Amino acid sequence: MKRRSFFKVGVLGGAAAVLTPKDLFAAQTTLIKDSEIKNASKPIVLSTWSHGLEANKGAWSVLENKGSSLDAVMKGAMVTESDRSNRSVGISGMPDRTGHVTLDACIMDSEGRSGAVGFVEGFEHPIQIAREVMEQTPHAMLVGKGAEIFAKQLGFKKLKSPISEVKKEYKEWIKKNPELVVKPIINHENHDTIGILAMDSEGKISGSCTTSGWAYKMPGRLGDSPIIGAGLFIDNEVGGAVATGLGEAIIRIAGSHTVVECMRNGMSPEEACKEAVNRIIRKNKDLTGLQCGFIALDKDGNYGAYSVYNGFNIAVKSIDKEELIDSAYDRKW
Ligand code: ASP
Repeated sequence: MKRRSFFKVGVLGGAAAVLTPKDLFAAQTTLIKDSEIKNASKPIVLSTWSHGLEANKGAWSVLENKGSSLDAVMKGAMVTESDRSNRSVGISGMPDRTGHVTLDACIMDSEGRSGAVGFVEGFEHPIQIAREVMEQTPHAMLVGKGAEIFAKQLGFKKLKSPISEVKKEYKEWIKKNPELVVKPIINHENHDTIGILAMDSEGKISGSCTTSGWAYKMPGRLGDSPIIGAGLFIDNEVGGAVATGLGEAIIRIAGSHTVVECMRNGMSPEEACKEAVNRIIRKNKDLTGLQCGFIALDKDGNYGAYSVYNGFNIAVKSIDKEELIDSAYDRKW
């Protein structure tokens, strides 16, 4: 802003004395270009993992039509939730140790409003139910039966779950893993979540996060993804962050809130994500397979990502970019 105002005063100050109408027109054109460059970073949408590329397309269809970041992050999440080839989000996601696919989601907007659902089964779009929790109820989170009753009251259809592919895979898996109460194995293949951050053309930031959670988790387990402050956090004065990976480790450091607070204290998005990852590393003696990653967006449209291990990536879409970038990381698998 400062540079732009300075430039404007400089041009107009000079114009009174020496510039012709033609010069003035040229000067105005320069000013318009300058403002376009400054706004080049918005709108913007960022998503976790490679499935974020498709999610970003959904979000972008809202942002490019001057829609709100809230609508954009919901639409992006819905793309992944409906992708039946996706095994970590939506009803085609991975089941728990009893064969149930239980879904968690949350959403947060630039006003600091939020809604979440946890442990719901058979709904195509948990993210929409989370938004309804935010908009229609005095609560921040509904889980299990209560969330499902609420969803049905709103007219959301309950689908058959698990779908046949998931059922088939589960049957194979349970034969080899008959113990129901064991510490589930952690590795990067049984994790993934879609987390989305978007800033619209008005500079408003919103975020969403939706997942089937840790594959073969114990029944009743909630991860970080539906928990505001852990899986997602937005403060429009600063920016937003979203997490993926081993939810228990993310919850224990209030991950996404930590990232946003680090940005508030002056860190860049990548430095802030790195600080959160470092806390996870310091607090977990055994890091075998413990993958966690964060992405962050600040209010100026700068973004960054950091993960414990390599292999995490961030999908970016803005007016002049559509790409998948490898996150910075602490160590190699
Ligand atoms: N964070 C999710 C959870 O712990 C899973 C993931 O992102 O891989 O449920």
